[in-house]
Amino acid sequence: MKLASKPCPWYAKAKASTRKRQAEWLKRRAVEAYFQQHYDAFDQTIAAFNVPPPPSAKRRLDSLLQEFYLRPNADLESELHDRRHNHDLTECPSCGNPLIPDTLDHFLPKEDWPEYAIFANNLVPQCRACAPIKGRRYFCTTHQRAMFLHPMYSAALASVQFKINVSLQAGRPNFEIKFSAAKTTAHADIVRIEQHLRELKVLGRMLEFCVRHWSHWRQKVKTQGIDIEALFRLEIGTDSANEYGRDWATAFKKGVLRDAEALAALNAKPPLHPAPVEELIELNIC
Ligand SMILES: [Zn+2]
Repeated sequence: MKLASKPCPWYAKAKASTRKRQAEWLKRRAVEAYFQQHYDAFDQTIAAFNVPPPPSAKRRLDSLLQEFYLRPNADLESELHDRRHNHDLTECPSCGNPLIPDTLDHFLPKEDWPEYAIFANNLVPQCRACAPIKGRRYFCTTHQRAMFLHPMYSAALASVQFKINVSLQAGRPNFEIKFSAAKTTAHADIVRIEQHLRELKVLGRMLEFCVRHWSHWRQKVKTQGIDIEALFRLEIGTDSANEYGRDWATAFKKGVLRDAEALAALNAKPPLHPAPVEELIELNIC
Protein backbone atom coordinates (compact mmCIF):
# COMPACT_ATOMS: atom_id res chain seq x y z
CA MET A 1 0.00 0.00 0.00
CA LYS A 2 1.68 3.18 -1.17
CA LEU A 3 1.08 6.78 -0.21
CA ALA A 4 -0.49 8.85 -2.98
CA SER A 5 1.53 11.43 -4.87
CA LYS A 6 1.31 15.11 -3.96
CA PRO A 7 -0.82 17.06 -4.57
CA CYS A 8 -3.56 14.51 -4.03
CA PRO A 9 -4.86 13.62 -7.53
CA TRP A 10 -8.35 12.92 -6.22
CA TYR A 11 -9.10 16.60 -5.62
CA ALA A 12 -8.66 17.41 -9.32
CA LYS A 13 -10.99 14.56 -10.20
CA ALA A 14 -13.63 15.77 -7.73
CA LYS A 15 -13.25 19.32 -9.08
CA ALA A 16 -13.97 18.05 -12.58
CA SER A 17 -17.34 16.74 -11.39
CA THR A 18 -20.22 17.46 -13.72
CA ARG A 19 -22.46 17.73 -10.67
CA LYS A 20 -22.81 21.48 -10.59
CA ARG A 21 -23.08 21.99 -6.85
CA GLN A 22 -19.96 19.94 -6.13
CA ALA A 23 -17.77 21.26 -8.93
CA GLU A 24 -18.53 24.95 -8.48
CA TRP A 25 -17.83 24.86 -4.79
CA LEU A 26 -14.50 23.06 -5.16
CA LYS A 27 -13.33 25.45 -7.88
CA ARG A 28 -13.46 28.45 -5.56
CA ARG A 29 -9.94 29.67 -4.92
CA ALA A 30 -10.39 29.97 -1.15
CA VAL A 31 -11.81 26.44 -0.92
CA GLU A 32 -8.96 25.01 -2.98
CA ALA A 33 -6.42 26.80 -0.79
CA TYR A 34 -8.13 25.46 2.35
CA PHE A 35 -8.01 21.89 1.09
CA GLN A 36 -4.40 22.19 -0.06
CA GLN A 37 -3.33 23.61 3.29
CA HIS A 38 -4.90 20.64 5.10
CA TYR A 39 -3.58 18.08 2.66
CA ASP A 40 -0.09 19.53 3.08
CA ALA A 41 -0.44 19.24 6.87
CA PHE A 42 -1.77 15.68 6.86
CA ASP A 43 1.59 13.89 7.33
CA GLN A 44 2.37 16.24 10.20
CA THR A 45 -1.05 15.68 11.77
CA ILE A 46 -0.51 11.90 11.71
CA ALA A 47 3.04 12.26 13.07
CA ALA A 48 1.87 14.50 15.95
CA PHE A 49 -0.10 11.61 17.44
CA ASN A 50 -0.08 12.98 20.99
CA VAL A 51 -1.78 16.25 20.03
CA PRO A 52 -5.49 16.21 19.19
CA PRO A 53 -5.95 17.43 15.60
CA PRO A 54 -7.52 20.91 15.56
CA PRO A 55 -11.28 20.80 15.09
CA SER A 56 -12.34 21.16 11.48
CA ALA A 57 -13.31 24.63 10.35
CA LYS A 58 -15.68 22.99 7.88
CA ARG A 59 -17.80 20.88 10.22
CA ARG A 60 -20.92 22.81 9.24
CA LEU A 61 -20.26 21.73 5.64
CA ASP A 62 -19.67 18.11 6.56
CA SER A 63 -22.62 16.76 4.57
CA LEU A 64 -21.43 18.56 1.43
CA LEU A 65 -17.85 17.39 1.91
CA GLN A 66 -18.88 13.84 2.67
CA GLU A 67 -21.00 13.87 -0.47
CA PHE A 68 -17.82 13.81 -2.55
CA TYR A 69 -17.08 10.43 -0.97
CA LEU A 70 -20.61 9.07 -0.70
CA ARG A 71 -21.74 10.18 -4.18
CA PRO A 72 -18.50 10.52 -6.17
CA ASN A 73 -18.36 11.27 -9.88
CA ALA A 74 -17.26 8.45 -12.18
CA ASP A 75 -13.54 9.35 -12.13
CA LEU A 76 -13.39 9.57 -8.37
CA GLU A 77 -15.51 6.44 -7.99
CA SER A 78 -12.93 4.60 -10.05
CA GLU A 79 -10.13 5.81 -7.72
CA LEU A 80 -12.14 4.78 -4.65
CA HIS A 81 -12.85 1.38 -6.17
CA ASP A 82 -9.14 0.87 -6.87
CA ARG A 83 -8.18 1.88 -3.34
CA ARG A 84 -10.85 -0.43 -1.91
CA HIS A 85 -10.30 -3.49 -4.11
CA ASN A 86 -7.23 -3.28 -6.38
CA HIS A 87 -4.49 -3.77 -3.83
CA ASP A 88 -2.26 -6.71 -3.07
CA LEU A 89 -3.32 -7.09 0.56
CA THR A 90 -4.20 -10.61 1.68
CA GLU A 91 -5.00 -9.61 5.25
CA CYS A 92 -6.32 -6.52 7.03
CA PRO A 93 -3.40 -4.10 7.53
CA SER A 94 -4.95 -2.90 10.79
CA CYS A 95 -5.56 -6.22 12.55
CA GLY A 96 -4.09 -9.16 10.58
CA ASN A 97 -7.51 -10.73 9.86
CA PRO A 98 -6.80 -13.06 6.91
CA LEU A 99 -9.51 -11.64 4.68
CA ILE A 100 -8.86 -9.47 1.64
CA PRO A 101 -9.90 -5.98 2.82
CA ASP A 102 -12.86 -4.70 0.84
CA THR A 103 -13.91 -1.59 2.71
CA LEU A 104 -12.24 1.78 3.33
CA ASP A 105 -11.55 3.42 6.66
CA HIS A 106 -11.29 7.18 6.99
CA PHE A 107 -8.34 7.22 9.38
CA LEU A 108 -9.32 10.73 10.45
CA PRO A 109 -13.10 10.19 10.58
CA LYS A 110 -14.90 12.04 7.80
CA GLU A 111 -17.65 13.15 10.17
CA ASP A 112 -15.18 15.15 12.28
CA TRP A 113 -12.60 16.15 9.65
CA PRO A 114 -14.65 16.20 6.44
CA GLU A 115 -11.84 17.97 4.54
CA TYR A 116 -10.13 14.58 4.41
CA ALA A 117 -13.21 12.74 3.10
CA ILE A 118 -11.58 12.28 -0.32
CA PHE A 119 -7.91 12.64 0.60
CA ALA A 120 -6.25 9.47 -0.69
CA ASN A 121 -3.83 9.00 2.21
CA ASN A 122 -6.64 9.22 4.73
CA LEU A 123 -8.45 6.25 3.17
CA VAL A 124 -7.12 2.88 4.27
CA PRO A 125 -8.33 -0.55 3.10
CA GLN A 126 -9.66 -2.37 6.13
CA CYS A 127 -11.57 -5.54 7.02
CA ARG A 128 -15.28 -5.28 7.73
CA ALA A 129 -14.77 -6.45 11.31
CA CYS A 130 -12.42 -3.55 12.13
CA ALA A 131 -14.64 -0.91 10.52
CA PRO A 132 -17.46 -0.78 13.11
CA ILE A 133 -15.03 -1.20 16.03
CA LYS A 134 -12.85 1.72 14.97
CA GLY A 135 -15.86 3.71 13.79
CA ARG A 136 -15.62 7.41 14.44
CA ARG A 137 -13.03 7.13 17.23
CA TYR A 138 -9.64 8.75 16.81
CA PHE A 139 -8.10 10.49 19.83
CA CYS A 140 -7.80 8.91 23.28
CA THR A 141 -8.12 11.63 25.91
CA THR A 142 -7.14 9.22 28.71
CA HIS A 143 -3.67 8.62 27.27
CA GLN A 144 -3.51 11.81 25.20
CA ARG A 145 -2.62 10.08 21.96
CA ALA A 146 -4.21 8.72 18.80
CA MET A 147 -5.85 5.37 19.51
CA PHE A 148 -4.78 3.78 16.26
CA LEU A 149 -1.74 3.49 14.03
CA HIS A 150 -2.09 4.38 10.37
CA PRO A 151 -0.99 1.29 8.39
CA MET A 152 0.46 3.40 5.56
CA TYR A 153 2.53 5.54 7.93
CA SER A 154 3.62 3.00 10.56
CA ALA A 155 6.42 0.54 9.77
CA ALA A 156 6.11 -0.59 13.40
CA LEU A 157 2.53 -1.78 12.82
CA ALA A 158 3.60 -3.59 9.65
CA SER A 159 6.12 -5.60 11.72
CA VAL A 160 3.43 -7.05 14.03
CA GLN A 161 3.15 -10.83 13.97
CA PHE A 162 0.87 -13.33 15.71
CA LYS A 163 1.52 -16.60 17.51
CA ILE A 164 -1.15 -19.09 18.54
CA ASN A 165 -0.27 -21.92 20.89
CA VAL A 166 -2.81 -24.71 20.45
CA SER A 167 -3.25 -27.45 23.03
CA LEU A 168 -5.89 -29.94 24.11
CA GLN A 169 -7.44 -29.57 27.54
CA ALA A 170 -9.94 -32.25 28.59
CA GLY A 171 -10.23 -33.16 24.92
CA ARG A 172 -11.11 -29.63 23.85
CA PRO A 173 -8.85 -27.21 21.96
CA ASN A 174 -7.34 -24.34 23.90
CA PHE A 175 -5.76 -21.30 22.24
CA GLU A 176 -3.13 -19.00 23.72
CA ILE A 177 -2.43 -15.91 21.65
CA LYS A 178 0.72 -13.83 21.59
CA PHE A 179 1.82 -10.78 19.63
CA SER A 180 5.27 -9.59 18.58
CA ALA A 181 6.86 -6.63 16.83
CA ALA A 182 10.34 -6.15 15.35
CA LYS A 183 13.00 -6.04 18.08
CA THR A 184 14.19 -2.66 16.82
CA THR A 185 10.76 -1.10 17.48
CA ALA A 186 10.99 1.97 19.72
CA HIS A 187 9.27 1.74 23.12
CA ALA A 188 6.87 4.56 22.21
CA ASP A 189 5.76 2.56 19.16
CA ILE A 190 5.35 -0.63 21.21
CA VAL A 191 2.99 1.23 23.55
CA ARG A 192 1.03 2.52 20.58
CA ILE A 193 0.84 -0.92 18.90
CA GLU A 194 -0.46 -2.43 22.14
CA GLN A 195 -3.15 0.23 22.37
CA HIS A 196 -4.02 -0.15 18.67
CA LEU A 197 -4.52 -3.93 19.08
CA ARG A 198 -6.48 -3.46 22.31
CA GLU A 199 -8.78 -0.80 20.82
CA LEU A 200 -9.50 -3.04 17.82
CA LYS A 201 -10.28 -5.95 20.20
CA VAL A 202 -7.85 -8.15 18.28
CA LEU A 203 -7.25 -10.67 21.08
CA GLY A 204 -10.95 -11.54 21.50
CA ARG A 205 -11.52 -11.58 17.76
CA MET A 206 -8.57 -13.94 17.28
CA LEU A 207 -9.91 -16.32 19.93
CA GLU A 208 -13.28 -16.41 18.13
CA PHE A 209 -11.42 -16.95 14.85
CA CYS A 210 -9.54 -19.94 16.35
CA VAL A 211 -12.73 -21.58 17.61
CA ARG A 212 -14.41 -21.08 14.22
CA HIS A 213 -11.40 -22.36 12.29
CA TRP A 214 -11.00 -25.41 14.47
CA SER A 215 -14.64 -26.35 13.72
CA HIS A 216 -14.18 -25.50 10.05
CA TRP A 217 -11.14 -27.77 9.61
CA ARG A 218 -12.64 -30.50 11.80
CA GLN A 219 -15.67 -30.53 9.51
CA LYS A 220 -13.43 -30.68 6.41
CA VAL A 221 -11.59 -33.70 7.83
CA LYS A 222 -14.85 -35.45 8.70
CA THR A 223 -16.65 -34.80 5.42
CA GLN A 224 -13.81 -34.70 2.90
CA GLY A 225 -11.10 -36.76 4.58
CA ILE A 226 -8.57 -33.93 4.19
CA ASP A 227 -5.08 -34.54 5.60
CA ILE A 228 -4.65 -31.42 7.73
CA GLU A 229 -0.95 -31.98 8.38
CA ALA A 230 -0.05 -32.24 4.68
CA LEU A 231 -2.28 -29.30 3.76
CA PHE A 232 -1.03 -26.97 6.53
CA ARG A 233 2.64 -27.85 5.83
CA LEU A 234 2.11 -27.14 2.14
CA GLU A 235 0.49 -23.75 2.86
CA ILE A 236 3.14 -22.67 5.36
CA GLY A 237 5.96 -23.76 3.06
CA THR A 238 9.46 -22.72 4.05
CA ASP A 239 8.25 -20.33 6.76
CA SER A 240 7.89 -23.08 9.39
CA ALA A 241 11.00 -22.04 11.40
CA ASN A 242 9.25 -18.86 12.60
CA GLU A 243 6.54 -19.67 15.15
CA TYR A 244 4.82 -16.34 14.42
CA GLY A 245 2.69 -15.57 11.38
CA ARG A 246 1.85 -12.32 9.59
CA ASP A 247 -1.85 -13.16 9.74
CA TRP A 248 -4.14 -15.12 12.05
CA ALA A 249 -4.65 -18.10 9.71
CA THR A 250 -0.91 -18.71 9.31
CA ALA A 251 -0.43 -18.44 13.07
CA PHE A 252 -3.29 -20.93 13.60
CA LYS A 253 -1.82 -23.48 11.19
CA LYS A 254 1.64 -23.18 12.71
CA GLY A 255 0.15 -23.57 16.19
CA VAL A 256 -1.69 -26.76 15.24
CA LEU A 257 1.43 -28.24 13.62
CA ARG A 258 3.55 -27.52 16.74
CA ASP A 259 1.31 -29.57 19.04
CA ALA A 260 1.19 -33.27 18.13
CA GLU A 261 -1.83 -33.96 20.33
CA ALA A 262 -3.89 -31.09 18.90
CA LEU A 263 -2.87 -32.05 15.37
CA ALA A 264 -3.93 -35.65 15.93
CA ALA A 265 -7.30 -34.53 17.35
CA LEU A 266 -7.98 -32.14 14.47
CA ASN A 267 -6.82 -34.67 11.89
CA ALA A 268 -8.66 -37.72 13.29
CA LYS A 269 -10.50 -39.46 10.46
CA PRO A 270 -13.90 -40.99 11.17
CA PRO A 271 -14.46 -44.59 10.01
CA LEU A 272 -15.26 -44.70 6.32
CA HIS A 273 -18.89 -45.40 5.47
CA PRO A 274 -19.24 -44.61 1.77
CA ALA A 275 -22.54 -42.87 1.07
CA PRO A 276 -24.86 -44.81 -1.24
CA VAL A 277 -24.77 -43.48 -4.80
CA GLU A 278 -28.00 -41.65 -5.47
CA GLU A 279 -29.58 -41.76 -8.92
CA LEU A 280 -29.73 -38.30 -10.46
CA ILE A 281 -31.76 -36.68 -13.19
CA GLU A 282 -30.16 -34.01 -15.41
CA LEU A 283 -31.86 -30.60 -15.51
CA ASN A 284 -32.14 -28.39 -18.58
CA ILE A 285 -32.16 -24.67 -17.84
CA CYS A 286 -31.24 -23.29 -21.31
ZN1 LIG B 1 -9.14 -5.59 10.42
